[in-house]
Amino acid sequence: SVKTTMKTLFDQLDFEKKHGDGAFYLLGNEIKKGIENKEFKIYYQPKVNLKTKKVEFEALMRWNHPEKGNISPGIFIPIAEKSSLIIDLTYFLIEQVKKDIVRLKTPVSLNISPIHFNKKYFSEEIITKHGTLKGINFELTEGAFIDDVDKCIEKMDNLKKIGINFSIDDFGTGYSSLSYLSKLPVSTLKIDRSFVINMFESPENMKIIKTIIELGKSLGLEVIVEGTETIQEVNMLKEMGVEIFQGYYYGKPEELEIVLKKIEEKEYTKKV
Ligand code: C2E
Ligand code: MG
Ligand code: MG
Ligand code: MG
Repeated sequence: SVKTTMKTLFDQLDFEKKHGDGAFYLLGNEIKKGIENKEFKIYYQPKVNLKTKKVEFEALMRWNHPEKGNISPGIFIPIAEKSSLIIDLTYFLIEQVKKDIVRLKTPVSLNISPIHFNKKYFSEEIITKHGTLKGINFELTEGAFIDDVDKCIEKMDNLKKIGINFSIDDFGTGYSSLSYLSKLPVSTLKIDRSFVINMFESPENMKIIKTIIELGKSLGLEVIVEGTETIQEVNMLKEMGVEIFQGYYYGKPEELEIVLKKIEEKEYTKKV
């Protein structure tokens, strides 16, 4: 909730005040300890296809810190990205998702940090470390592709061979060039939540959403809208041609056991 996020942010500020410039380093050490102590958990949020009634999931990391409580990825990912800890976190994430996918029995997407993706041997290391990764989808933001698009395509093609698919996450918020967008081997565009939040008050956002839907369709890509919280938003977007929804209206990110129970009870498709 907003309240706990704020509390975490304040704790974080306190921590930095107390530890000064070394705060990042210290938090990095805490992350390292956290990985060893299994404090990182994965939550799963449904992506519901209204047409096929199929449900897939996005894996979202949580840090359950023994003193500070649940810390949001918005805080610890940027810190982990300052060192090789982001790589450790991604490896942990992939290994855990590999196990969970057997029980979820659906494809699962996970977020890859652009900083990690842009390391020279990203695809080789993933393949050596994890073997085949069927049913796994990597979400990358537009910022991941600004360095060397051809190199990115090569990495993605390598990973496609072991079963990985790709989505562009938070689409519309970064820099995209139409010329490379059509070349990237991605299957999905995810429209960022920021366009949905005030879509009824903002004709501009409505236009942006429409344009992305059209763009996705013309490139033969799947389009997902993230952050839909109300039935009004869902109905409007449905009318505009969206078929797949990820947002609190259909389900929040939750622990695997809860998610499995909800799948069994057909909870996610009750409102479809
Ligand atoms: P994202 O990939 O765009 O994930 C969607 C975020 O929007 C998630 O926040 C999710 O909980 C939230 N969300 C989804 N639907 C709704 C809604 O209807 N209302 C509201 N208010 N929020 C909604 P979360 O879990 O805090 O993650 C934030 C970001 O942190 C993610 O954005 C992703 O970029 C990053 N992240 C999360 N887990 C990982 C990870 O394992 N690795 C990396 N590299 N990044 C991660
Ligand atoms: Mg994502
Ligand atoms: Mg997103
Ligand atoms: Mg987002």
